[in-house]
Amino acid sequence: MNDCIELESVGKRFGRTQAVEDLSLRIPMGSLCGFLGPNGAGKSTTIRMIMSIIRPDQGRLTVLGGDAINRKDRIGYLPEERGLYRRMRVGEYLGYIGRLKGVDSRTLRPRISEWLERIDLPGSERSRCEELSKGMQQKVQFLAAIIHDPELIILDEPFSGLDPVNAQLLNELISELHAEGRTILFSTHVLHQAERMCDRIVLIDRGTKVLDDGLEEIRRRFDPRTLTAEPAGDREPWRRSVTGIPGVAVVTDDDEGRLRIRLEDRADPDEVMSACLAMGPVRMIERSRTSLDEVFVSLVAGRDDVADRPEEVLADA
Ligand code: ADP
Repeated sequence: MNDCIELESVGKRFGRTQAVEDLSLRIPMGSLCGFLGPNGAGKSTTIRMIMSIIRPDQGRLTVLGGDAINRKDRIGYLPEERGLYRRMRVGEYLGYIGRLKGVDSRTLRPRISEWLERIDLPGSERSRCEELSKGMQQKVQFLAAIIHDPELIILDEPFSGLDPVNAQLLNELISELHAEGRTILFSTHVLHQAERMCDRIVLIDRGTKVLDDGLEEIRRRFDPRTLTAEPAGDREPWRRSVTGIPGVAVVTDDDEGRLRIRLEDRADPDEVMSACLAMGPVRMIERSRTSLDEVFVSLVAGRDDVADRPEEVLADA
């Protein structure tokens, strides 16, 4: 598969802050990639370099085989800092942006009304941008990023400031655009957002890459080798029987009143699961998944100065 975005040893410093350091990345054509990391990790700086808004101090960077500046019509970009032409009407604004990106007015008009309907703002062409709520403005800005039907879509923190209903709507739109074949890169500091939708994850921390892989590979690599179960009958006898199954290391309680069955390294989870089922009826039993939050903490916990880092930075991730 061809790479859509390619970074080779890219670095960017602002005064004493090394915002991005020796960052190498390849985003394959057609992927839906989450660009993750806590606040201040260097995500926006990287995206701005990808968009040719700022220049890297070091390294090499290509987008769709060249420089983003010469490919703007093929790229959709939602910047982190939101801003609309406040006095403009929604239809006028989207038409203006679309024409700037080379789409003719006749194509734009029906496209704008269809999209406004899709984002639950039907018939709002004549509303002034400033009359819309923050969330609505953000959705209009998302449309401005995609109205020219770009093949590559780059969204910087697209979910921030959206309520759960609109976040879910945006999630669906992004997934649809991806299913139609577009390459999408979006940043977020909320890791579980990406977990639900991406096929690829790039995780950065303090300007350097700590993880870069497909979501399935990450799940396999960080498999916690744990089963979660809820016995249907008497809990303690079931627990004692399960503790005696070969391959079970330890059985503990989780926060939600279920049992966590930790497996020994050599154990086969499917075999242990069958053995557990033979010990008595269960309401549920399943293989636990490591969350991206846990992966992140396990990856950065080994870094030298983690103890000096403000707790909220880790919690924020
Ligand atoms: P993220 O998008 O992951 O939250 P940023 O790329 O915005 O992170 O910032 C990375 C680091 O670079 C932060 O320490 C930030 O303060 C610094 N930084 C970003 N842009 C500038 C700038 N224009 N001038 C000075 N420092 C900056």
